[in-house]
Parts: sequence; structure tokens; C-alpha cells
Amino acid sequence: MTDRRQELEALRDELIDRFDRYKAHKEQRGGPLDKDMEDQSIELQNDEVVEALQQEVEDELRQVMHALKRIGDGEGDLCERCGEPIDARRLAAVPYTTLCRDCAEPA
Ligand SMILES: [Zn+2]
Repeated sequence: MTDRRQELEALRDELIDRFDRYKAHKEQRGGPLDKDMEDQSIELQNDEVVEALQQEVEDELRQVMHALKRIGDGEGDLCERCGEPIDARRLAAVPYTTLCRDCAEPA
């Protein structure tokens, strides 16, 4: 099994970095945004778009921090709702999830 905590910590750092760039951009003293954002540079001049992206990053970051805390508590592989183990393939695909597939996507 890959080290999920390491993966999440890397993701956390990346999200914090992105969050700071959006913040800097909004404050009009920022450097360039992510290179994969260049295509959207026109849209990104719109503060509302930046605001939405920042919100998205913030939500994801909150998820990552939550997942890291659960891993720290030794519960990282268990579903937060039903307590069943979360499928390893799901954890690999969505490392910050804290719900099993059944709970995340109710039929
Ligand atoms: Zn569940």
C-alpha cells in the first residue's frame, strides 16, 4: 500500500500553496498563477472566479486535513459514517475521502 499520509501531506502543501497564490492574486500583488491555469488567465482576471477557485481549494484542504487527522487517530481506513473499512482502490483514487463508497454515493 502506498503511504497515504505522505500523499495527503503533499496534497495539503500543494493546496496551501495554491490558496496563497489565489489570495495574493486577489490582493493584486501576486505572481503568476499555476501554469495549468494559464489558459484561463482571462477568466482569472475576474475576481469572482478566483474567489470560487479559492473556495474550492479551501474545501478540499479541509477534507485533506480531516482525513489526515483520522489517519493520525488510526481510523484513516475506516468509513466515518458506517465504520466499515474503505476499499483500498477508493482510497487510492480519492486519498482524502473519509467515507466508503456506499456512504459517499448512496444508491
Ligand atoms: Zn460507510
